[in-house]
Amino acid sequence: MPLADITERLHAALAAAGRPEDDATLIAVSKVQPPERVEPVLREGHRVFGENRVQEAQGRWPDFQARYDGIELHLIGPLQTNKARAAVEMFDAIHTVDRPKLAATLARLAQERGACPDLFIQVNTGEEPQKAGCMPAEVDAFVAEVRGMDLPLAGLMCIPPVEEEPSLHFALLAKMAERNGLRGLSMGMSADFEKAIAFGATHVRVGSAIFGERAYEL
Ligand SMILES: *Cc1c(COP(=O)(O)O)cnc(C)c1O
Repeated sequence: MPLADITERLHAALAAAGRPEDDATLIAVSKVQPPERVEPVLREGHRVFGENRVQEAQGRWPDFQARYDGIELHLIGPLQTNKARAAVEMFDAIHTVDRPKLAATLARLAQERGACPDLFIQVNTGEEPQKAGCMPAEVDAFVAEVRGMDLPLAGLMCIPPVEEEPSLHFALLAKMAERNGLRGLSMGMSADFEKAIAFGATHVRVGSAIFGERAYEL
């Protein structure tokens, strides 16, 4: 589906929720997609992209950044501590902060660099054993811990279990954000971004609906 159609659907969902058109950011998730699918979206003027691997992003974004101004990159995949330095150098936002050790590493890098990407805490709302993210019961304490490290915490992020109604997870995440005084909500993908908007998403992460099906999954 062309970018313009997704943008139109996003704006319609925002309007239906009584929210202004610029109230949510569309992150075009370009992971795995070949450059010949990414470049047309850049040419259309879109500048906000999501990748889920540091190494993949390092491999291809410097070239695009040399040719297009104002690119904003969001890391939406799990981050290993030993890739944290590369991640903070490359990304404008990291959506997958999920444990104290990673937060401490990011805090040390932030001190050293005098700058830090916007951070989201990933919450494992479905409490799935194979999935990353901090457990719902631990969110409030982890939010306080991250704030205590003087890190720029923008909000919370979730990836609902595939077989469950996502609205329940969006509602839960929104509630956890609200009680912690966080406005940022990174939730909603190709299949459900309009629902996420209804529950207050400020960042939707849309991949296949923009670029087409991925040739493989990571
Ligand atoms: C791949 C991915 C997306 C995009 O998924 P689509 O279904 O292609 O829109 C969004 N968020 C995360 C964390 C992802 O890994």
